[in-house]
Amino acid sequence: MSTAQFSATGVRWDLGDLFAGHDDPRIEQILSASLGRAQAFARAYRGSVAIPGGPPPERLLAAVKELEDLEADLRRVGVYADLLYATDTGRAECRALKERVELQGTEIGNTILFFDLEWMELSEEAAERLMADPVLTGYRHYLHCLRRFRPHRLSEPEERLLNERDNTGRRAFARLFTECTTALCFPVERDGTTQHLTMSEVLALAHHPDRDLRRRGLESLYGVLGANALVLTSVYDTLLLDHLTLDRLRRYPTPMTERHLANEIDPEAVERMMAVAETNYGLARRYFALKARLLGLPRLALYDQYAPVGDALPTCPYPEGQRTILEAFQSFAPLFRDIAQRFFEGHWIDAEVRQGKVGGAFCASVTPDLHPYILCNYTDNLRDVMTVAHELGHGLHGYLARKQSLFNAETPLTMAETASVFCEAVVFDHLVRTQADPGVRLALVCGKIEETFATVFRQTVLTRFEQAVFERRTEGRLTAETICSAWLAANRSYYGDAVELADGYRWGWSYISHFIHSRFYCYSYVFGELLVLSLYRRYKEEVASFVPRYVVLLEGGARTPPSPCSGPSTWTSTIRSSGRRASTSCDP
Ligand SMILES: [Zn+2]
Repeated sequence: MSTAQFSATGVRWDLGDLFAGHDDPRIEQILSASLGRAQAFARAYRGSVAIPGGPPPERLLAAVKELEDLEADLRRVGVYADLLYATDTGRAECRALKERVELQGTEIGNTILFFDLEWMELSEEAAERLMADPVLTGYRHYLHCLRRFRPHRLSEPEERLLNERDNTGRRAFARLFTECTTALCFPVERDGTTQHLTMSEVLALAHHPDRDLRRRGLESLYGVLGANALVLTSVYDTLLLDHLTLDRLRRYPTPMTERHLANEIDPEAVERMMAVAETNYGLARRYFALKARLLGLPRLALYDQYAPVGDALPTCPYPEGQRTILEAFQSFAPLFRDIAQRFFEGHWIDAEVRQGKVGGAFCASVTPDLHPYILCNYTDNLRDVMTVAHELGHGLHGYLARKQSLFNAETPLTMAETASVFCEAVVFDHLVRTQADPGVRLALVCGKIEETFATVFRQTVLTRFEQAVFERRTEGRLTAETICSAWLAANRSYYGDAVELADGYRWGWSYISHFIHSRFYCYSYVFGELLVLSLYRRYKEEVASFVPRYVVLLEGGARTPPSPCSGPSTWTSTIRSSGRRASTSCDP
């Protein structure tokens, strides 16, 4: 496996702030103690929330705080298990720890589940009165969020059963997907030999100046995915049915409803946003025609979509990428530079490309008394610099939101991409300003345009594809052919005649982890990008006066909702959530 040729070799995170290793005895201590605390919590509060008139506000506050403390302990263990697993998915000890945490998390979650259910059961009048009480001001948003899921709750035994069965159901299929796709390797002929690349490496070839290498890279990607069609199709089809089954049981009218509630956004606003994006697909097609001219081609092939335009972008070794980001952040606000510096110096970033590590990039926040961690796969190009800037944006957001208590720190997905996309814009502007060569500047600007299209238009395509396959799944089990043709149809409406889609592209859906791990995630990227384009324009107009207000927005965490009418992040116990956030990965 070729993984050692990049400059970030050795840049691994130090998880010592969490635990000393997978066998650190404190992990087991926390897991056992937490179950004891959960049982004590149940003894103290069961039957005392859903009572006529509701509990005294002080008592409700004490319960929420106890739950928050319990969650903080478990989050520390859960994030640790996730981070260890993400960098070594094939290692038995990492898999074992992750499972141990999931099973214990389920038992603890089931023990305290009654609290959420009782809170939802409480009459509207009593709940409103409690949420308006000054004692509960700090948790009003959190409590309000929980109640938005009121019409969709099941009975306690039903909820417990679902939680238990998910470990061998939807979570097991998601694990199979992760372990299957991270173990894949992609043979590519290069310099007279066959190299075996990881998915991150083969995806990076989409940006290579050599057209034939780009073509071979994508052919290898789709060839290997197609060879694994049985598993990838079966996993996706099963998760679609699982999703539809739960929607029926929970009385969700559409497959997107639960996501909209969690995102604190109206379905009409999302539909309108996507419709406007679709109306403007022609803009991208005009650009693709222009790009074909710039590249001297009659028409773009899919593997030309991210081809460099203008002068080849200089490579950017990791230390230089780090310097660029710090300089750019400094020009925006010294506070941003200071925080980013901590990520680099504290070894909170794992940037090395290596076998067994998950592809793409993410940032994981832990608890307000700890700092976030970043994972990426740095392959020495300027795109990777933007990826690190993106993840550092999440990191800054998480770091600044530590002013909030745990239940108030994490934003819904709609707001989650604000700081990340904003930081990308800051670094991009800095790069364009500091590059003297007009050819390099042209390349940078084209790259930025393509990335914006990929975020606004292509994530809309992905969401339309999801809607289409969910629709088809209601008619029965899906074949690979059905999924592939829905994928091509959604893509054709975007690319039109401007880009030639290779036959293998029908497998383009099969490795996108959002479809597996968090369905209907993708429209949040569209929301985030459009929001940041307008915020960044404000920054350009106001400059200095903008910064402090922007910092306040980030410090607000979950208490800065995307729209005045607010809602929850997840209503089932977040004890099992890892705090992981995926980044816009490059999917050609
Ligand atoms: Zn992101």
